[in-house]
Parts: sequence; structure tokens; C-alpha cells
Amino acid sequence: MTPDDLKRAICAKAHELGANLVRSCSVRMWETHPMQSPEFWPHAIWPWAENVIVLGIPLYAPMIRTTPSMVYQDLYDTSNRVLDDIAYRLTNYIVTGLGYRAIFFPRDCYYNIEALEANPNAAFSHVVAGYYAGMGSIGDSHNLLTKEFGPRVRLVSVVTDAPLTPDAMLQKNVCIHCGKCLQSCPSQCFRKNGDAIYDMDKTACTRYHIMLKKQRHWPCGVCVSVCPVGEDMKAYRGERMISEDGIRHCQAFGS
Ligand code: SF4
Ligand code: SF4
Repeated sequence: MTPDDLKRAICAKAHELGANLVRSCSVRMWETHPMQSPEFWPHAIWPWAENVIVLGIPLYAPMIRTTPSMVYQDLYDTSNRVLDDIAYRLTNYIVTGLGYRAIFFPRDCYYNIEALEANPNAAFSHVVAGYYAGMGSIGDSHNLLTKEFGPRVRLVSVVTDAPLTPDAMLQKNVCIHCGKCLQSCPSQCFRKNGDAIYDMDKTACTRYHIMLKKQRHWPCGVCVSVCPVGEDMKAYRGERMISEDGIRHCQAFGS
């Protein structure tokens, strides 16, 4: 199979397994466009690695709008299960079906939110991988903003030595610098930093999540909810996504 044929076969399988967005990049992107220290580079961890396939599925905007609530928590937990399932099965297809080496970095890539308090870095950043693979641009909120779903997308990555034609990075930053994430963050994590993406106090974000978890309704996701970028928002333009009473209902009952 040519790299193009291989890419088509893997993309088709990923879509069949339930991924909405599928893109790939060379591991060399971590060297040519460095954003993390070399210990985070996929080929520093798996020396045979050649390419990273990034898979995305959407979070549904009206459900996130209820945050913090049981409704959003279950959406988040379900997306985690679906992502790891897709990644496991796609890895299996590449290894046993196509005969190449592959592994996947699980979604999140950290044990639990408490683990991030001591060390705020996950083992792998799917946001960075998605950026290199042209799935989106990194917004002021530090989230990956996709044209399709804005930041309302959950990611997982498969690392392989299969020779794949890489996708191009986005030429245009889709963040419109509206400031809504900065203004809405309940733990005031963001600070303006000239024209660069906002400085982010990751520890403040983590501590807020730990507090929400103790109250049995997390994650936060406010910066994901308020971001206006994404074609998914078009369906609700000009009307309310959820009533104020509806938000209170989801937060008061079962959460
Ligand atoms: S809310 Fe506005 S500033 Fe923040 S990431 Fe989205 S578009 Fe950018
Ligand atoms: S998840 Fe919540 S606390 Fe963390 S940066 Fe986004 S809005 Fe702020």
C-alpha cells in the first residue's frame, strides 16, 4: 500500500469506529515546531514511532452548558470511554490487520485530577498533537479549537511506524480573541499576555477541579462552553441553547 492508501484505510477504519475527526502528523513536528521539552516527544518515548494519528469526537454544547452538573460529568466520562475504545480498536487494526507497530496514548494521559496538583503535566498532550496534525489551532484558552466543534472536542492519539502522508497544519488561527474564556473562568486562571495566548495558572484550574470533584460534579469546562468558535454552535444561533431554569434544574437534581 502507498502512504496515501494506508492513510485512507486507517481513516476509514477510524471513522467506522466512531471518530469524527481523524488527522495525522509526523513525530518530527515535535522537533521542527518545538512546544515541549524532548522528554515529551513521542519518538523519545517509543523510538520506532514515525507518525501520530489524532482522533476527535465532539462534546455536545447544550450538555456542557449545564456545568457543573451530573449531565456534563456523564458526557465527559462517556467521551473518555468512547475515545479509549476507538483508540484500542484502531491500534489493534494497525497491529494485527496491517502489520505495523502501534500503541495509543489514552485520553487525558493522567491518573486523576489530584495527580495534576503535584505535577501539572500529562504524559502526552493531544492538544499539541492535534495542532501539529492540523486538526485545529491553540486558542487563548489553551484548548484546541477546531472548525467543526470549537474546543468542544475530546482527543486521543495513536502512535505508529506506519508510513502515512501527513496532514497540513492550519494556516489561520481560528481563535477570535473574544476574551469570553478569560472573563468567564470561575478560578480566574487566565491573564492577558500581549498578543500571545493567555498565561494560564494551571494549578488554579486543577484546584478548582478538585473542589468540584469533592462536590460530586465536575469537570468545569466553562472555557469550553463559552467559546463561540465552531460550526456546532450554528444550530443554536439566535435562540437559547438551554433555559436558565434548565441549567438550575440540572445542577440541583442528581448532581
Ligand atoms: S473564548 Fe474567545 S478568546 Fe477564548 S479561545 Fe474561544 S475564541 Fe479564543
Ligand atoms: S476548565 Fe474552568 S477553571 Fe479551568 S481554565 Fe477552563 S474555565 Fe477556568
